[in-house]
Amino acid sequence: AVADPETGAAVKAADRAHVFHSWSAQAVIDPLAVAGAEGSYFWDYDGNRYLDFSSQLVNTNIGHQHPKVVAAIQEQAAKLCTIAPGFAVDVRSEAARLIAEVTPGDLNQVFFTNGGAEAVENAVRMARLHTGRHKVFSAYRSYHGATSTAINLTGDPRRWPSDTASAGVVHFWGPYLYRSQFHATSEEQECERALEHLEQLVAFEGPQSVAAIILESVVGTAGILVPPAGYLAGVREICDRYGIVFILDEVMSGFGRTGAWFAADHWGVVPDLLTFAKGVNSGYVPLGGVAISPEIAATFATRAYPGGLTYSGHPLACASAVATINAMREERIVENAADIGERVIGPALRDIAARHASVGEVRGLGVFWALDLVKDKATHEPLVPYNAAGADNAPMAEFAAACKKGGLWPFVNMNRTHVVPPCTVTEAEAKEGLAALDEALSVTDRYAVN
Ligand code: PLP
Repeated sequence: AVADPETGAAVKAADRAHVFHSWSAQAVIDPLAVAGAEGSYFWDYDGNRYLDFSSQLVNTNIGHQHPKVVAAIQEQAAKLCTIAPGFAVDVRSEAARLIAEVTPGDLNQVFFTNGGAEAVENAVRMARLHTGRHKVFSAYRSYHGATSTAINLTGDPRRWPSDTASAGVVHFWGPYLYRSQFHATSEEQECERALEHLEQLVAFEGPQSVAAIILESVVGTAGILVPPAGYLAGVREICDRYGIVFILDEVMSGFGRTGAWFAADHWGVVPDLLTFAKGVNSGYVPLGGVAISPEIAATFATRAYPGGLTYSGHPLACASAVATINAMREERIVENAADIGERVIGPALRDIAARHASVGEVRGLGVFWALDLVKDKATHEPLVPYNAAGADNAPMAEFAAACKKGGLWPFVNMNRTHVVPPCTVTEAEAKEGLAALDEALSVTDRYAVN
């Protein structure tokens, strides 16, 4: 990284004058001016380089500036930058064919969107029209996007200020043994009781009014909650029993993140609709979509599907998806995520947990891990309160600052840090980041009972 602080200051000044940022109090934020990125790293204008253990917003599965993907975008730009969704065009056809090939089971048709939230909006619309029912079930401790329906489905505090159009949304508790809602003492018990709870809610809401159950296959932002064996299959059974559409949201967990193409593959479960975005092309050009079962596609065989987007299946986005999927196959990137997770990250995090008073639980798979930070390992009391801000959140803010000082860009949410590097991360890079993390955790240890 070459230092150029003057340019950095100008970039920052124009940003603060004119860019209105997501999720932020505009006068309070202090965004880092980024000068460039490659592979697992990005750098600023002051000569600081960061190892990206957040993959930005958990989307750069293939790392930054993958040469094959960059070339595909450049080639497509020279050939055909844009074309309306109503035409058949080579890159869109090929992207859909490849996505149908890698998604689970018989999900063989793809509706393209510009990102994850729009994918969720359209999946819910399809489910409601397919069933003629209105209610949709989603989990507490979930994130499904920031548009109207998607934010109302979301089960974290980001929903609260926008919780105005939630008619028909019913939230339920998913399995999370470390903080069990069901007083369970084993994964088996947690699974059984979570399924019982869900089926009871369906019964009391009236199964004939429930259009869909939407779930993240592995819950992402809300905690990297890996479901116990049998949970997703159990939800599939409940859906089948009552004619409910099963939607798996794989926006974050898909395309290699868990060391499989899709997280649902770990349990052999096939949903009726699967939403994707992020890793499909690592966000090089905005892209998301819904992979659709033959039954639901058939509903719209002779009846028009009432939804669309000007940029649905955008050629630059589709070209980057084709190049991404091909590169992931050629370079065995999904296999790399599985191997690094199992052999390097998992064991190192468990070792870190054993040595740090503030690390309560380690969970995850592939390059999708969380450290659940606690005040007290015995009681599991979170290191900071739920939805903490300001002084209450100081331990996590200090931890994030310590990571950055050590050259590591962390993913931090509430009382957790997630270890979510690109699927292309090398063993040496993973070890470098884990060492920086280990050091930064001495900050959180000071707030924990020893
Ligand atoms: N669904 C899940 C599981 C996500 O993690 C996200 C984003 O983090 C979304 C949906 C929303 O995607 P987007 O921000 O592309 O709209």
